[in-house]
Amino acid sequence: MDQNAIDLGRRSFLTGRHRTPPDRIRPPWSREASVSAACTGCGACVPACPQHIIALDADGRPALSFAAAECSFCGACSEVCPEPVFDRAGAPFEHVALIGANCFAGRGIVCQSCGDACPEAAIRFRPRLGGPALPEVSAERCSGCGACVATCPASAVSMSTRRLEVAHG
Ligand code: SF4
Ligand code: SF4
Ligand code: SF4
Repeated sequence: MDQNAIDLGRRSFLTGRHRTPPDRIRPPWSREASVSAACTGCGACVPACPQHIIALDADGRPALSFAAAECSFCGACSEVCPEPVFDRAGAPFEHVALIGANCFAGRGIVCQSCGDACPEAAIRFRPRLGGPALPEVSAERCSGCGACVATCPASAVSMSTRRLEVAHG
């Protein structure tokens, strides 16, 4: 288990600091380097996505938004791509969900929407005295699908790089 990531995630939840958001979220099984090296900007993956979460960024390269829907890992984007951008042998994403300081539960309002939406049961709620249970993301279980992003009524969930450096201070 990546204990550092989990500990850091918990601290990030409590403080809203130590975030390491990826610049852009690339489609699953692609990486920034492979997009830079091989993507021609043809845009074939955009209409191929049944979830409608792929758009071309300002550089004409595919980027995901989980604002309205999650990735279903259907693989359509990787199948339609004519270039060596996708590597289905690897993990789909390098990011995991990170819950920020806007979370209702952290502000005293009962909410477990993200946990209800998570298909991996990666968000558990830790009971505490004097307030609603607080969500904690298991970096080990989280697939990075983004289902918790769209469902959060407080817009408190973002994605963070999986390998977080240990923060000091
Ligand atoms: S795997 Fe499917 S749902 Fe996910 S981004 Fe690709 S086409 Fe869209
Ligand atoms: S859905 Fe958002 S506000 Fe509700 S518990 Fe999860 S992170 Fe907090
Ligand atoms: S990104 Fe997906 S798997 Fe990870 S916590 Fe959110 S809903 Fe669960």
